[in-house]
Amino acid sequence: MAKKIFWDKGHGGSDPGAVANGLQEKVLTHKIVEYAMSYLSANYTGFEQRTSRTGDQSVELNSRDDLADNWGADVFVSVHINAGRGNGFETYIYNGNVSAATQSLQNMLHAEILATMHEFGPTPDRGKRRADFVVLRETDMPAVLTENLFIDSSDHERLKNETFLRAVGEAHARGVAKFLGLQSIVSGPPQPTDSNRWRIQTGLFDNAETFARAIGRLKEKYSWLIHEQATSTDLNPRYRIVTGLFTGRNVAEYYADQLKKEFGWNVYIIEG
Ligand SMILES: [Zn+2]
Repeated sequence: MAKKIFWDKGHGGSDPGAVANGLQEKVLTHKIVEYAMSYLSANYTGFEQRTSRTGDQSVELNSRDDLADNWGADVFVSVHINAGRGNGFETYIYNGNVSAATQSLQNMLHAEILATMHEFGPTPDRGKRRADFVVLRETDMPAVLTENLFIDSSDHERLKNETFLRAVGEAHARGVAKFLGLQSIVSGPPQPTDSNRWRIQTGLFDNAETFARAIGRLKEKYSWLIHEQATSTDLNPRYRIVTGLFTGRNVAEYYADQLKKEFGWNVYIIEG
């Protein structure tokens, strides 16, 4: 039977949530969830998904859990942006009795989202927390609430970056897919339309740690030949990844798209 995923976009309508730096929480949570939902539809099968609001409607706090409960959702994810001038990422589950499944959903979402955020800059891990939030207390299924950086600190720079919001949405989707064991849609690369050789090159990673993590993730997923390129001066070390050769520009483009979708990286195709 298809698994049911309920996405709760924090706030909405007359309740903007936190507001600072020209940003509104309700707009950001809408975008992150939309990116999560599109990514799931494009990459997985065997599920249905709904959201607490399709656009900028007001949704009563107390009706959010009812929407999920009455539908019989298997998973509930509530997406928020933090405020209070801190930095970093945290997740919540209910602070009363929770199932092992709830904890495992929190673990999977937390790990997936934090790793993605790290790729865009330093991201303090504020921890896997517990609280008596209505949407966590009143829901009948595993429920997690994510607080995705701070709208009123230096974090807001990343919240203004659409690529970052997409990557964060997609990380939410991967966490849920992993938790539910959703089957991914496999579609292979296209037939090459030219016989030239091409490489994929990433944008610059600005520290060795992020770079090492990026290479780790790439190697875990693909068996390509990978060249590590350091264009460093002592004061300003910079790193990028260059892949081994693909025959056909359209084939390289196909894989470049995969990397963009999967990791949120900027990548370029160069002639090899
Ligand atoms: Zn909120």
